[in-house]
Amino acid sequence: MQAMKKILIIVFAFYIPLGCAAQQKVISNTTKKPNIILLFADDAGYADFGFQGSKVMITPNLDKLATEGVRFTQAYVTHPTCGPSRAGLITGKSQYKFGYEENNVPTYMSAVSAADSTEMGLPVEEVTMADYLKKQGYATAVYGKWHLGGADRFHPTKRGFDEFYGFRGGARDYFPYKNPPSEPQNKLERGFANFEEHEGYLTDVLAEDATVFIEKNAKANTPFFAFLSFNAVHTPMDATPEDLAKFPELTGKRKIVAAMGLALDRAVGKVLNKLKELGIEDNTIVVFTNDNGGPTDANASSNLPLSGIKATHLEGGIRVPFLMKWPGQLQANTTYTKPISTLDLLPTFFKAAGGDVNELKDIDGVDLLPYINGQNSARPHETLFWKRDARAAMRKGDWKLIRFPDRPAELFYLPDDEKELNDLATSEPERYLEMY
Ligand code: CA
Repeated sequence: MQAMKKILIIVFAFYIPLGCAAQQKVISNTTKKPNIILLFADDAGYADFGFQGSKVMITPNLDKLATEGVRFTQAYVTHPTCGPSRAGLITGKSQYKFGYEENNVPTYMSAVSAADSTEMGLPVEEVTMADYLKKQGYATAVYGKWHLGGADRFHPTKRGFDEFYGFRGGARDYFPYKNPPSEPQNKLERGFANFEEHEGYLTDVLAEDATVFIEKNAKANTPFFAFLSFNAVHTPMDATPEDLAKFPELTGKRKIVAAMGLALDRAVGKVLNKLKELGIEDNTIVVFTNDNGGPTDANASSNLPLSGIKATHLEGGIRVPFLMKWPGQLQANTTYTKPISTLDLLPTFFKAAGGDVNELKDIDGVDLLPYINGQNSARPHETLFWKRDARAAMRKGDWKLIRFPDRPAELFYLPDDEKELNDLATSEPERYLEMY
């Protein structure tokens, strides 16, 4: 009997570690770091996608993405213009904290920056999404519009990105320049200071280039973060004749913006098809959103049913289309209706990459996963803030206050008044003053 016990003990002593090792192997396979793709549009209209209800625009690839993931009905950017919105997105921090609150440039000024706009950019002390992901072992790349500073010290390759193919400024032509611009900000650049014009239509070119990065890292089994920062559908209004021909019923700028949106959707399709082809679709987080509301006046985009346009604090300036697909973690074909912010992407990605969100200091975003999955039924944000020059806005719960430089502030209750037409300032005086 004693001998049998000894044998059993010896058997278990060997069996248990083997069992643990086998289990560990399974766990490490299932917890493989997900790849991350951030598809970012520029100046797109809230209404201008099939998945947002458009009957005019042709966006089949994005519509499919919407059915494969979560559509957010109240997603906000941190500012209604390009530069500050991107500064908030890429730092996960309210960009007002580091002076990035005016139009497209930070408010802090020096004699140098006053004379040269390229000297204005995302302060070099700020840590970016790419910096955080790089520390988690990710290969990182950004394609397209940077707009976070034109001077060399602000360059994407100095802000956590291994690779860059795009332009430093805020807008450029979609077709190759016959006479390259004198401003280096608008030239197409590969890596650091290698300026080379592309062939073809820029939206297609950026997606094509990103697929090379995706394939290289997928084959090397390296987790990657690809930020596709399209300038579509920002002005100038450039579209190909083939894309324009798809919208015979439209005219003028509306026809051009539709064609530019079709090209954007095709570019998204190229990237998503590459994931499928490489068999990494199930281990890749894909997010699609847009940097600020459509400037209806400039590019004929539509933000309906929301009021307001780019550069305003009405919902049409700050609420954006937003999709997230994450197979195995997020339920397909669902909506999330509580307010979220583009500030949330940095902590969400960092956590997904194996990071500890408690290490993130001074971040204003939150890891969205527990909220979307219903583990946390609270709102990710009870309050959200926006500011531009003397104007500002605040959302607290479902109430929104907008402050103007030249007239009394207005108060809206969004669930009943998404269009912000019914000012409740006088009927809710206590709430109004408290929020003001
Ligand atoms: Ca923009």
